[in-house]
Amino acid sequence: MVKPINDGPKINFEKKTVSAMIDIYYKQFKDEAHQEERSDVLSYAMARLNYCRFGEEKPTCKICPVHCYQKKYQDQMKVIMRYSGPRMLLYHPIMSVEHMLKEWRYKG
Ligand code: SF4
Repeated sequence: MVKPINDGPKINFEKKTVSAMIDIYYKQFKDEAHQEERSDVLSYAMARLNYCRFGEEKPTCKICPVHCYQKKYQDQMKVIMRYSGPRMLLYHPIMSVEHMLKEWRYKG
């Protein structure tokens, strides 16, 4: 049986947040190679979220005990998050605060 794609409100909010962070990072590059890299990392991250084993109960990926990302993408996302994290407060303050609260909640 095919596993259904995660499509609940929390995971959809996370998809929007991660997409926004990837967009902020790649906005600084105009060349084709970076734009291809952007599409690749975005599809990878969306696929991870679509099939995340925790579904609506997932923690943020940063504090996840499983870390389902391949090493290459994990490293790439670390660079993206480091750059975009502080800028999210400017571009998407509500998403940014929600994301931080989620992290705090799970760290408990
Ligand atoms: S890293 Fe963890 S929380 Fe993130 S998608 Fe993978 S399993 Fe889910």
